[in-house]
Amino acid sequence: MDADVIVVGLGSVGSMASWRLAEVHGARVIGMERHALGHDAGGYAGESRLFRTGYHESPEYVPMLLQAREHWQELERGGRRTLFHPAGVLSLGAPAIAPMRNVLASVEQHRIPHEVLDAAELSRRYPQHGALTDEIGVLDRFGGVLRPEPAVHEALRRAREAGAELMDDTAVTEIEPVPGGVRVTTEQGVRTANHAVVTAGAWSAQLLPRLREVLDIRPLVLTWFAPEDPSRYAPEVFPGFIRDTGDVHLFGIPSVDGALVKAGWADRWGSIDDPSRLTRFLEPRALAGVGRDVHALIPELPAQPSRHSVHMDAYTPDRRAVIGTPQPGVAVVAGLSGHGFKLAPAFGEIAARLALGLPQQHDISRFSPDRFGG
Ligand SMILES: Cc1cc2nc3c(=O)[nH]c(=O)nc-3n(C[C@H](O)[C@H](O)[C@H](O)COP(=O)(O)OP(=O)(O)OC[C@H]3O[C@@H](n4cnc5c(N)ncnc54)[C@H](O)[C@@H]3O)c2cc1C
Repeated sequence: MDADVIVVGLGSVGSMASWRLAEVHGARVIGMERHALGHDAGGYAGESRLFRTGYHESPEYVPMLLQAREHWQELERGGRRTLFHPAGVLSLGAPAIAPMRNVLASVEQHRIPHEVLDAAELSRRYPQHGALTDEIGVLDRFGGVLRPEPAVHEALRRAREAGAELMDDTAVTEIEPVPGGVRVTTEQGVRTANHAVVTAGAWSAQLLPRLREVLDIRPLVLTWFAPEDPSRYAPEVFPGFIRDTGDVHLFGIPSVDGALVKAGWADRWGSIDDPSRLTRFLEPRALAGVGRDVHALIPELPAQPSRHSVHMDAYTPDRRAVIGTPQPGVAVVAGLSGHGFKLAPAFGEIAARLALGLPQQHDISRFSPDRFGG
């Protein structure tokens, strides 16, 4: 066998899995990436990602989130790049709605440092958020802003330093079982390993047909706005946020470049059949709706974005990733459903353990590919 593990797709999870496999577990790793390493078409692109432990989706994620937090710190400590801004994350919404109940349950059950703020206190501390009436705010002090592109680079650097062979411009076309392992075919040739890990993001179903009916490819559009006074949106004074008001679900990230603030819809951009069909530029009129909502909720921001970029992610029907071994010798982590970057190092560790046959540190049965049948 050429390696213990071949990692297919060196984006968010694949870069972290390669790092964990090579450095932490001492495995012989070959990583294969169809584009350049750290290219700008991955699910991680777009300058920043929210990290939060007050979790809208469910408190069940918190142990994994806390582990991811430790891995992020470990990754940052070993290099010279800033990977995390500890700005905090503010969840805003009526206390009775399910996402806010989940946030409160997450921070209370797991003793996450936090503050619960009423509308008057919110208006005093964060007047940028405009009028608030029946909303409360939960400030997650473990929350903050991850820098995804440098993080992927750093994980790949660490993997390479620990002996991983990382191949760019290497598209995997097939993964087949062979006695004792797998044969991975690329446009450049064939390599073998005891195990393969598929972390191919929106492209995963091309390699694992079983996932075709499960993964829905959704474009996600990032929008940035220019405030009159960017200092009011610096990470030191303006936490990242998620706000649920009526049917508007807005997220925002403080200004990491000292000029623009990222704010936008979390998910309202439809689906596409094929990742190669992603339209990467939108006409200004396609952005009018998101601009209107951002300006309505944060009146200091203009209604017209100064910058936008289009990305995509693979969603599952229950918005929970697919993690498991769908065929002999092949582990998969895919379908991160728009909220998986923060978990990438924990998912990378899980993938490493699946591939090496080591016990898991978390119950991953809820992520099983088998839950969808087929
Ligand atoms: C706009 C946007 C905003 C988001 N905001 C947040 C947020 O604030 N917080 C958060 O936690 N999450 C967020 N997410 C979700 C998170 O970023 C994604 O879930 C995550 O990046 C997906 O990671 P991945 O490893 O599955 O895929 P990717 O990072 O896309 O990696 C897949 C890699 O596989 C490669 N590949 C594909 N096919 C092959 C092949 N055949 N051979 C070789 N290589 C291949 C690809 O080129 C790519 O590099 C957001 C996502 C988007 C798109």
